[in-house]
Amino acid sequence: MNNPLENARKQLRGIADILGLDAKTIKKLSQIDRFIQGEIEIKLDSGKKKKFQAFRSEHNNARGPYKGGIRFHPGVSEDEVRALSMWMTWKTSVVGIPYGGGKGGVIVEPSSLSENELERLSRAYIRLIAEYIGSDKDIPAPDVNTNGRIMAWMLDEYEKIIGHKDPGALTGKPLELGGSKGRTEATGLGGFYILEAFAKKIKKPKKNITLAIQGCGNVGSYFTKFAYKAGYKIVAISDSRNTIYDSGGIDAEKALAYKEKNRTFVGFSAKIMTSEEIIGVQADIFVPAALENAIHENNVGDLKCRYILEMANGPTTPEAEKILTKKGILIIPDVLANAGGVAVSYFEWVQNLQNYYWEEKEVYAKLKKLMLDAYSSVEKKYAELKRVHKGINMRMAAYAIAVERVRKAMELRGEL
Ligand code: NAD
Repeated sequence: MNNPLENARKQLRGIADILGLDAKTIKKLSQIDRFIQGEIEIKLDSGKKKKFQAFRSEHNNARGPYKGGIRFHPGVSEDEVRALSMWMTWKTSVVGIPYGGGKGGVIVEPSSLSENELERLSRAYIRLIAEYIGSDKDIPAPDVNTNGRIMAWMLDEYEKIIGHKDPGALTGKPLELGGSKGRTEATGLGGFYILEAFAKKIKKPKKNITLAIQGCGNVGSYFTKFAYKAGYKIVAISDSRNTIYDSGGIDAEKALAYKEKNRTFVGFSAKIMTSEEIIGVQADIFVPAALENAIHENNVGDLKCRYILEMANGPTTPEAEKILTKKGILIIPDVLANAGGVAVSYFEWVQNLQNYYWEEKEVYAKLKKLMLDAYSSVEKKYAELKRVHKGINMRMAAYAIAVERVRKAMELRGEL
């Protein structure tokens, strides 16, 4: 069984060897600071009561308050939430924002709940964790199946409990409750900035760089729109049912508008293939922007790209990654590529703390600088590590930076 927490700890041990960390430090870095767990009960519209398992994991706060989303999903598990909180510690660290890592989850199929039931669940969840969150303690945000609407209920419940305003206690809020301009498109835009930096590095004109993009939800569609507008050649886009393909390039704006209107790509003027077939498309860069484990042992051999830009979280399994690293296929890792979302969450928090709100232009400019700085530091570290260690990939370089920053912060606090 693939246990995400075991995977996260294994990754840490891999980096620990490179950084020369001792066993005590590895143990401390792997420890979850606090795990909150409880059964939350809500009244259903039918009048019956129902209980749900709920969790919040706080991994490490040496660099700042815990930060990470809340997931509503039937597949949520304790160890998944723990692992995700550890990955958040590395993500906030690698992009240099002053947070630690946290994550929350409720085992629920949200589509089975009415709007009123969803509101009661969101409020009940916050009552469970209220004592532990706050703008200087732990700052949740949306994740799978949660959104700005849910953040608004959660913030309202939280502020009722504490008896005063604290909008910085949750991010990903609607603009009317202190959300930030630019948050909706932030993850796709952040990935696009990385793409721009990477294109410069490979010294190929944009119009000749071909992209195959898997998934066109929030992340995939914004990424696609920015890349298309900038002049990259998008040869394939997929959703959960189909892939559209045109080796000469797709008019991505039209394709996404078509999909939005018709809820399907079927009928769009491009070759229609199955969703899975995007893996075998000939393109310079494959961009997984849908689900975890999209590239695995059984399909990795079909990939025809030279580079992978991971916009989804965990789209490459460790087994597939080993094969890709051996083949020399460069993976720009998720902790870096999709950090635009948490970066603008950070900007939202900063705006909340100072009660002063920025224009979209300012948010974009700050996001660009943050993503490019993080990208160039990971690239530098990657080049440096490659010279001394065998089998290094860019994810390891990103982790090496992230883990070392957390270690240093813990050492300065006297925790090591
Ligand atoms: P989303 O729910 O908006 O979109 C996901 C899309 O993937 C949906 O449109 C779905 O139809 C599609 N999909 C599902 N299975 C597919 C398949 N087999 N092939 C192609 N498409 C498929 O979610 P999102 O917010 O866009 O998140 C996508 C990924 O990015 C997730 O891994 C998420 O954890 C990660 N991520 C999101 C953010 C954010 O700010 N939204 C930030 C960081 C990471």
